[in-house]
Amino acid sequence: MDISQKFKVMEASSVRKLSIYADEARRGGKTVYHLNIGQPDLDTPEPYFQKIKNFNEPSTEYMPSLGIPTLTNSIQSYYAKLGIHYNTEQIAVTCGGTEALLFTFLAIANEGDEILLPEPFYSNYTTFFTISGAICIPVTTWAENGFHFTEQDLVSKITKRAKAILISTPGNPTGAVLSMDEIKMVARIAKEHDLYIIADEVYREFVFDGREITSFGFLPEIEDRLIIIDSVSKRFNACGARIGALLTKNKDLFSVITKLCQGRLSCSTIEQHGAVGLYAADEGYVINARDQYQKRRDIVYELLKQVPGVVCRKPEGAFYMIAKLPIDDVDDFLTWLLTSFEIDGETVMAAPAEGFYKTIGLGKNELRIAYVLEEEPLIKAMRILTEGLKEYMELNNIRLV
Ligand SMILES: *Cc1c(COP(=O)(O)O)cnc(C)c1O
Repeated sequence: MDISQKFKVMEASSVRKLSIYADEARRGGKTVYHLNIGQPDLDTPEPYFQKIKNFNEPSTEYMPSLGIPTLTNSIQSYYAKLGIHYNTEQIAVTCGGTEALLFTFLAIANEGDEILLPEPFYSNYTTFFTISGAICIPVTTWAENGFHFTEQDLVSKITKRAKAILISTPGNPTGAVLSMDEIKMVARIAKEHDLYIIADEVYREFVFDGREITSFGFLPEIEDRLIIIDSVSKRFNACGARIGALLTKNKDLFSVITKLCQGRLSCSTIEQHGAVGLYAADEGYVINARDQYQKRRDIVYELLKQVPGVVCRKPEGAFYMIAKLPIDDVDDFLTWLLTSFEIDGETVMAAPAEGFYKTIGLGKNELRIAYVLEEEPLIKAMRILTEGLKEYMELNNIRLV
């Protein structure tokens, strides 16, 4: 028996490979700090658990495919408060932002259609390309300019087969936040070339240094080509709730999304009730989370920028940072940290950045740090990382030029 051709080419992620070494280190009695995963350590707002505790139906039934009305209403009012106006017939509740992305890819792309996206990008997007048959066209961005792209970078990648532009802002894995001018630039290009815009804004509120929230939703001139991807996972630290949303004013597209939602019947009933609690949580919650991330960002950035040879810019949002190290093989360095390096019985795991690139050869000398630990463990983890880097460079005779 054979498996699907589509999936034969998919490689196991290098993060998973490193996880095996992390497990071994742990079995050997070491503490491993995780800077590799985007799972924050802040508590989920209490109203979420209250709603679930108060669920008092005799059975858990299928709910409407597009979501329970109380949740769709909550999402609508959340957006209205931001000044982004959708009605409830333009909102689909999905099983995480992940499903919203998958359904978007399936709904817009024919086999061979091209979707452009800044690189490095969220590595799960690769799965959606594989499933949908769309072609990933990376618009490469660089650590040296904070992973922003120019109009020319984007336009030069547009061909006749281009179908959509996919943007994660605030960005995972780069922490780059598009300014409203950049958003307007992308919008103009999308209009000129008749492309969809898939706006993955799951980190929307996590913008630092007093920045205003930016969103493709602020531009009425692209509303017929815009798909907004959202999720409670990051905003409310509720990754396990598996509740997301897709918003679009494009009627044809929404009717396809509706069919896809009907095909999987319903999202989790109880979790949808929980999510209503999330949207009703005190607004201070998200602001506090943002401030925590900003503090942690400062810790990571201040420590890294002192290391000779490291290239990084201060992330503007989300809770990630990509840094370029003065070594050729970051994968090897990160493996070595787990297998052969420790300070007081502790070591650290970060994500090699290669998996965030489509272009072969890029990212080999970079890593992604998710600053999702509290300050004290974060400082320890960063110390292990930077001391480890020094020792690794000495051992391998790597000198800065
Ligand atoms: C985490 C994440 C998502 C979606 O996660 P869900 O838990 O499925 O909502 C989507 N896009 C990016 C860039 C992410 O980091």
